[in-house]
Amino acid sequence: MFPEEFSIEEGLELYNRDVQTLGQMADGLRREACGDLVTFVIDCNINYTNVCVSRCRFCAFYRSRGAEDAYVLSIDEIMEKIGEAVRLGATQILMQGGLNPDLPVEYYEEMLEKTRKRFPSVQRHFFSPAEIQFMAKVSGNSLKETLERLVEAGLQSIPGGGAEILDDRVRKKVSPNKISWEEWKEVMVTAHEIGLPTTATMVFGLGEGPEERVRHILRIREIQEETGGFTAFIPWSFQPGNTVLARREGIRKASGIEYLKVVALSRILLHGAIPNIQASHVTQGTRVAQVALFYGANDFGGTMIEENVVRATGTVSQYIAPEKIIRLIRDTGRPAARRDTLYNILEG
Ligand code: SF4
Repeated sequence: MFPEEFSIEEGLELYNRDVQTLGQMADGLRREACGDLVTFVIDCNINYTNVCVSRCRFCAFYRSRGAEDAYVLSIDEIMEKIGEAVRLGATQILMQGGLNPDLPVEYYEEMLEKTRKRFPSVQRHFFSPAEIQFMAKVSGNSLKETLERLVEAGLQSIPGGGAEILDDRVRKKVSPNKISWEEWKEVMVTAHEIGLPTTATMVFGLGEGPEERVRHILRIREIQEETGGFTAFIPWSFQPGNTVLARREGIRKASGIEYLKVVALSRILLHGAIPNIQASHVTQGTRVAQVALFYGANDFGGTMIEENVVRATGTVSQYIAPEKIIRLIRDTGRPAARRDTLYNILEG
């Protein structure tokens, strides 16, 4: 029913259909690709520093070096946070922070080594492509050498953050100091080549048009066809609170309907390439996330024991206990299962 490859025009033709039609198509494809099971992970996001030289205009989290509330967590503080998360059942730690020029690559290596030693059962899902590229720059090592050093220290997978919209016109406008879309791709392809699985993300509503959204998803599809290294695709909408972009350009948060449309479009355009499409209760709230399960999503994301980046925008993102996630999923009439980072079922 669907061609293996989509052109931008075909993607746009789909995008222009009404949300209900797209939702029905996506729901059918979701059932075909993953059945009715809805998965989730017990996870914790730790942000080791908020000092960042990138100063993206859509980000409310970063601080400059000298700011009163700038921070860098010590390795001991990080271990304490991981310990708390593990006590709450976490099987995944997503570690992300700003691009902080004062941190040598040894800081990241020690973080990984100590996590591996003290909490061997937890998946070390650490550092987005922009951070890894920045580490390479600061240390003077090549990208591949940097990734190999991190793997040697215990890196197991990489979160796909920082993709925003994979289009340089948009990136120049909203994050001119951050890696280009091709550099993002280079980190992902290199990671996949050395056996590191990663997720892929998309933040939409940054002032891009439908064509750029379609192109983003098709670029993810192309990378996946080349490497097969993406485990999941996670789209969410720009959270404008406390950001320069919203203040200066008056960009507002995308509607729930727009979000559902993007989720459905992702399922359709990535069909046969990436099986897992994640609903984002952190940015959309639990009710829209429940509805997203009928627009192509098959995964409810994580419990988010801790999260600071979205919270900085004023969006109320809070820890949801596993029992509550299970209830939210079952309320939709679908079965729930707890998974690990790589989508293996652990329970349920
Ligand atoms: S989004 Fe990331 S890279 Fe951009 S300013 Fe915020 S912390 Fe820095």
